Amino acid sequence: MTAYTLIPATNADLSALPFHGRHLINGSWCDSAESFERRSPAHGCLVSRHAKAGAAETTAAIEAARLSFDAGDWSRASGKERATLLLKVADLIAERSAEMALLEALETGKPITQARGEVSGAADLWRYAAALARALHGDSHDSLGPDLLAMVLQQPVGVVSIITPWNFPFWILSQKLPFALAAGCSCIVKPSEITPSTTVILGELLTEAGLPPGVVNIVLGYGDPVGALMAAHPMVDMVSFTGSTTVGRSIQAAASATLKKLALELGGKNPQVVLPDADLDAAADAVVFGSLFNAGECCNAGSRLILHRDIAADFTARLAELSARVAFGDPLDPQTQVGAIISPAHLQRIDRSVKDGLAAGAGLALGGETLQIPGLSGTFYAPTLLTGIRPDMAIAREEVFGPVLAIQSCSSLDEAISLANDTSYGLSAGIWSKDIHACLRFARSVEAGTIWTNSWMDGFPEVPFGGMKQSGLGRENGHYGLEEYLEPKSVVMRIGASTRAPWVRR
Ligand code: NAD
Repeated sequence: MTAYTLIPATNADLSALPFHGRHLINGSWCDSAESFERRSPAHGCLVSRHAKAGAAETTAAIEAARLSFDAGDWSRASGKERATLLLKVADLIAERSAEMALLEALETGKPITQARGEVSGAADLWRYAAALARALHGDSHDSLGPDLLAMVLQQPVGVVSIITPWNFPFWILSQKLPFALAAGCSCIVKPSEITPSTTVILGELLTEAGLPPGVVNIVLGYGDPVGALMAAHPMVDMVSFTGSTTVGRSIQAAASATLKKLALELGGKNPQVVLPDADLDAAADAVVFGSLFNAGECCNAGSRLILHRDIAADFTARLAELSARVAFGDPLDPQTQVGAIISPAHLQRIDRSVKDGLAAGAGLALGGETLQIPGLSGTFYAPTLLTGIRPDMAIAREEVFGPVLAIQSCSSLDEAISLANDTSYGLSAGIWSKDIHACLRFARSVEAGTIWTNSWMDGFPEVPFGGMKQSGLGRENGHYGLEEYLEPKSVVMRIGASTRAPWVRR
């Protein structure tokens, strides 16, 4: 029997729960006749109860966003005014960060230390977007001829529907909303029904900071009908979505009737390659981190490992030893590194994928079982290493979204590149080698939005993030993240005596 590292239940004081969430529509907080609730996947306790929107609340929120955009209080505000508000929100996030991190840890089951880091990182995204708001400007063309001048205005795209998933609720919201606001857009936000609380708190902070009513509207509820209506409504100009590729496709179909602009951040099956000349200690640590961080419930999890045959056996043994040392357990204990799986249904899906992989011929180097944490009834899955994975196996191709690493092998860099590209996804990929030429060839040849060389999951507000192939459309962060929410408009002017030669013969 494997000895995993388990952190037992803490005795945290949760008497302030449950948190009560309402919709924010046109500056007013509203309830609905129906509600839904969220229990902690680790502790089983009731964390939050929320108003549950239907079509009426969703339509009201979309109409409020449209009215506010057309009124121009925000869409025509100066960059300085927008930046000042975004900075104020960043400060308010910092003030409420302890409460937000606790709710995030309880609703997702992720470790409290990680949740704290995500909330403070999200505040930094608001600060970065504030800087972009002040720097926002268009372009001009002064070299078109003696009597010609052209300007390119950068205008907000309009009303944006923002739909977010449960795995990094506040972080992902903060990769979208402050950028849309920096551009001057009005928004309707729908958090995942599994993790709505921090989005509601953000609504309170936006109101406190003085955002005009209707610029940000928050609707709590399910994909159907709320998300589906937000993707299809004719008053919406753009949909910014992060979530599964399956739902991304349905959003693209719903948005196509009015040809909305789309930003889609979808799934991944991200390969990490380790070559024999790498710093194998650093590589092993990062591979364990890449596959276990956030319990593997991570779009850019390093869920596929491509090992050079010369090191495959030793490296796999090293991974098994290190993975068993990672602390799984109560998310509220600061020692915990990996918390609970989001739901019993998802735990079963992870276990099914592992069992199917084993039935298809994979070897098991570690895990493949649920974990019992002393004092907790929740959903925990052991760190799992599957070996001998062939490219045609489902476990090599499908996103598992759990702490499961599928290990393939290669004999050369070219074979590693070809295996890395043998996927319908293209979110991220990584290589571990001291050979700069190998790293650069890999970076140039692999079809993924982010390539890490001798690192994994390093991310910054300044550096764009997004997917190729079926991992999505568009980019978040960096100036690219702002440009998603802008429409360039060309203004061409004749400014001198000479006019265009008459087209109509006289
Ligand atoms: P999901 O697609 O099930 O749900 C995401 C959001 O879409 C939720 O708010 C949900 O209510 C809503 N939704 C569901 N059906 C809808 C519909 N028909 N129309 C409109 N909205 C609808 O995803 P999830 O389970 O919350 O998150 C996990 C998925 O997200 C994984 O596939 C993961 O890879 C992906 N993800 C991607 C990134 C990225 O940046 N690429 C980041 C995080 C998560």
